[in-house]
Amino acid sequence: LKKYFPVTGPFGRLGGIKGQVKAVNDVTLKLYEGETYGLVGESGSGKSTTGRTILRLTEPTGGKVLFQDKDIFQASKKEVRRLRKDIQMVFQDPYSSLNPRKRIGKILEEPLIIHTNVSKNERRERVFDILEKVGLGMEHYYRFPHEFSGGQRQRIGLARALVVNPKIVICDEPVSALDVSIQSQVINLLQKLQDDFHLTYLFITHDISVVRHISDRIGVMYLGNIVEEGRNEDIFAKPLHPYTQALFSAVPRTNRGGKRERIVLKGEIPSPLNPPSGCMFHTRCPFALEKCRIEVPQRKEMKQDHYVACHLYE
Ligand code: SF4
Ligand code: MG
Repeated sequence: LKKYFPVTGPFGRLGGIKGQVKAVNDVTLKLYEGETYGLVGESGSGKSTTGRTILRLTEPTGGKVLFQDKDIFQASKKEVRRLRKDIQMVFQDPYSSLNPRKRIGKILEEPLIIHTNVSKNERRERVFDILEKVGLGMEHYYRFPHEFSGGQRQRIGLARALVVNPKIVICDEPVSALDVSIQSQVINLLQKLQDDFHLTYLFITHDISVVRHISDRIGVMYLGNIVEEGRNEDIFAKPLHPYTQALFSAVPRTNRGGKRERIVLKGEIPSPLNPPSGCMFHTRCPFALEKCRIEVPQRKEMKQDHYVACHLYE
């Protein structure tokens, strides 16, 4: 998958195209039915753009996304609409997309009007049902968005995504705006809903402890690339890529009692407008070799399902 954004000069389009930001440079991943795939990285690593491009909320620059043998990027408008029923997205702040003048019940009925042709009564039944499933009640049907707390709004966001019975939910930082105490409630709810609805999650977050708690497999992103991917237990037991090692070292170990030495990276994440040559991490990597500035490291399978792109492992 590739997604580049053109960057224009000081006078917008008239200033001409100055370059492009390779927000998603080279992302390859598989999502298996029923799993939770955690996509983790610092802000600006391209995680959200990956999620949005999969759904074609932004048009891709290249690559393909296959869902049930269909290429989403080649699909007609009508097919895309159907795909959007099967693949839903949940955002960090659902409030911004909840119409303040509409009652919750009506907001939750909208996806059913768009994606199904069930009767008015049936719609109402389904909304009552989904409200209960996300831990709200029938009485909330008549309330307005401002009457809810942050955690409750995220429950509404989940209800809106799930009311059409999707197969995949792309969750983009769904708990990052919530208080820590509320975070765990919503995460537990996400896990319960996954079982109830047989959902597959692509879970996007910068929060290592969240990704560790919820994921079956994890992909680590840096400047638009997945630099390492593996099963949760493998990647935490033995992170291979120097970036993963640094990222994970910031989180205290909860088991084994051992202390992990914190690896502090030098410098900032480079601008994606002018990314480093070779291995994009070489400007900050404590182990950089001569060839790292020149050659792009290729993804290599180190053990089953555990991939890394780094010259140290060649
Ligand atoms: Fe570091 Fe080189 Fe590996 Fe990149 S390829 S992470 S610079 S050792
Ligand atoms: Mg983001």
